[in-house]
Order: sequence, then C-alpha cells, then structure tokens
Amino acid sequence: MMEGTTDNCDVLVVGGGPAGSTCAWQLRKQGLDVMILDRQDFPRAKVCAGWITPAVLESLAIEADDYAREGLTIQPLSGFRTGIIGQPEVETAYGEPVSYGILRREFDDYLLRRSGARLRLGQGLSSCERDGDGWLVNNDIRARMLVGAGGHFCPVARLLGARPGSGEAAVRAQEIEFRMTPEQARDCPVRADTPELFFCEDLKGYGWIFRKGEYLNIGLGRQDENGKLGAHVQAFVEFLQRRCRIPADLPRMQGHAYLLYGDTPRRIIDDGVLLIGDAAGLAYTQSGEGIRPAIESALMASDVIAAADGDYRAATLSAYEERLIQRFGKRDQSHSLQLPEWFKLMAGRRLMRSKWFARRFVLDRWFFHTDQPPLLPAVS
Ligand SMILES: Cc1cc2nc3c(=O)[nH]c(=O)nc-3n(C[C@H](O)[C@H](O)[C@H](O)COP(=O)(O)OP(=O)(O)OC[C@H]3O[C@@H](n4cnc5c(N)ncnc54)[C@H](O)[C@@H]3O)c2cc1C
Repeated sequence: MMEGTTDNCDVLVVGGGPAGSTCAWQLRKQGLDVMILDRQDFPRAKVCAGWITPAVLESLAIEADDYAREGLTIQPLSGFRTGIIGQPEVETAYGEPVSYGILRREFDDYLLRRSGARLRLGQGLSSCERDGDGWLVNNDIRARMLVGAGGHFCPVARLLGARPGSGEAAVRAQEIEFRMTPEQARDCPVRADTPELFFCEDLKGYGWIFRKGEYLNIGLGRQDENGKLGAHVQAFVEFLQRRCRIPADLPRMQGHAYLLYGDTPRRIIDDGVLLIGDAAGLAYTQSGEGIRPAIESALMASDVIAAADGDYRAATLSAYEERLIQRFGKRDQSHSLQLPEWFKLMAGRRLMRSKWFARRFVLDRWFFHTDQPPLLPAVS
C-alpha cells in the first residue's frame, strides 16, 4: 500500500483464532468485505488440549472425514477415563465417537484460510481510534465495524474497559503438547480414543492426558486465587509418572488464562464494536470448554452484524448480547470451574467413582452439553 493511503473494509476482526475466523467466514458469505488482523503468523501454536465436540464440527459445517482427507489430525474419541487425582478412575465407553481431538496449530490455520477474509498476519493491533462512524486501526486500516476476537488479552476488550489479570476470576492453566519419540509412543499406555481426566482433590480444577496419534497433550487448569497452580501441576505430573502413564522427561509446560462465562463481568458491546470468544469470556463454566462457545458466539455476532445492514450503533448490536443470554443463560455468580457447589459439598469424591454419575453428569451434561443442540451457521 502507498504511504498515506488506508485499506478500507466493512468489518475488521482482531484475532484469527476459531472465534475470529468463524465470524469472518460467515460475514464473507453474507457479502461483507472482511479483514482479519492477527499478531502471529499462521500456522501458530495455541495452548489448548484440542478437544472438540461434534457440535463444533456441525457449527462449522465440517465433516470429520473431509477434514482428515486434508491430511489434518482428527482423533475420534469414543470413551473417557475420569477420576480424582490419586484415586482409582472409572472408564466410560460410548462405542462410537462422542468427541474429537485436533491440533490447534492445524485447526486454526484451516479455519483461517477457509474464511475467505483478507488476512493481515504477523501484525498486532498497535493503535485504534474512532474515525467518523468507524475506526482507524494501526493508522492504515479503516473499518466501519470492529470485532474483538483476540482471546483473553484481546486489545479490543481492553478498549472496552477489560483489565485482564486484575480483579477477573480467570482459569489459569499449564499444558504441554509434544510429538512423542517412537519409543515414547510405543511405551505410552494412554489410548488415543480414550482421554483421561483427573479432578483436583478440592475439585477446583482438573488435569488431563490426551493422546492424538503421535502427539501427547498433558495439562491442568484451575480457578484459584492462591496462585499455587505450579504446585498442583507438579503434583499431577508426579502422580502420572508414578503410574507410568507419561514419559519421565517432559518438555517445559506453557501457561495461559481465560474466563468462564458465569464469572465474566466484561462489557462486550459499544458503538461499532463487539467482542466474541475468549475476548468476551464465554468458556463453559463446568468444563472450561471454550472452542464451542467461541464459535457459537461468532455465528451469533455475524448474524447480528449482517442484519444491522451498516447501522452499528450499540443499540442495534445489543441483539447479540440478547442472543448470548438466550443461548448460555444469564451470567451468574457460579464461581466454580467444573462443578456446582452442592456437588462439592455433598459427595463429590464418592460420586466420581460411580460409572453412572461419570457418564450422565460429568461427561454427558457438563462436558458434552448433550442437552444443547448445535448452533448451525446461517450460510454454509
Ligand atoms: C490449557 C488450555 C486448554 C484448553 N483446552 C480446551 C479444549 O480442549 N477444548 C476447548 O473447547 N477449549 C479449550 N481451551 C479454551 C480454548 O483454547 C479457548 O476458549 C479458545 O481458543 C478461544 O478461541 P478464540 O478464538 O476466542 O481465542 P484464541 O484462540 O485465543 O485466538 C485469539 C487470537 O488473537 C490473536 N491476538 C491476540 N492479541 C492480539 C493483538 N494484540 N493483535 C492482533 N491479534 C491478537 C492471537 O494471536 C490469536 O490468534 C483451553 C484453554 C487452555 C488455556
């Protein structure tokens, strides 16, 4: 672009993760000129276990077989082992795929390229100011509408007043995903179709081991005020190593944080701007699953933006917030990462040993949300 000129678009999406690329994909299908700005080049790594439910694929209009034919990893999951760290776990076998494991590096890149949006990669948002009834971003992009999809630390969320790290009850997590050596893969007893979930003894978080072909993903997340995540992760890793479920020599873990829907006070709408995905703090309170809400929020936001037909005042965009409430309920005072308080107080540890409870409540209800049908895209 020549010096002094600007690149104009209808909608600028800041952040090319699943939320941003899904929103752009739908807006492009509805004829809008969309640009995605992401500070990273793609494909890029993302700290995430990479577990998705079939509802996610339906919302994205992706067939698992077609995705696999692109040479991308998609591991069908037909069972789960669940328990409490240090105690025996129970296995729930479904006999058919109830979820999938993907590699975020591949998945996010695939969605981004498929979106059809113009891409500005390797460029973070450095400045953003109002410009008439739109925005001037980085001094060279003019957009009528701004979508904040930059994850937990999204700069557009900060513009709307978010202060990540101060006063927000975030989930903090550490994890590592690595390609096993042939010897490690041979000796690894974790089955690729059956991930393992272990809740902390105080039920304030859980750890996982998740195998996707030659890749192993190990992590633990907690919603904790006392800053002792590292000690919990260490205890979890030692527990797994004592049971010979993971290699003795693990690469260094990576950390990240994000918000659960029930606990998020972020403002998500203003004139000409709205937030989607982790930027809006939408992950499911019971499981910490964030990809499905990120994608569903993107579908709802794109519907509202397209229907606004250029009238991007906050009053018009408020239809998006209403749709979020219809879909996910009112944000409440639920301060637990995974489990309702009554469950913790009563008999959490005993119930976790029950096969019936593990399947009906922990998995079907809290992890798979089988009671909530997939949200389908307006145009696929
Ligand atoms: C350890 C861990 C494990 C998880 N496991 C799962 C799981 O198994 N299943 C699940 O459903 N959820 C999981 N989650 C949650 C899930 O990762 C998130 O909810 C999901 O990635 C949200 O998608 P998003 O598009 O909103 O944001 P992101 O995926 O975070 O994408 C945001 C994008 O914005 C870009 N960006 C950031 N800042 C800027 C900037 N200043 N300028 C431009 N671009 C910027 C980033 O580079 C990034 O590409 C996990 C989270 C953690 C921390």
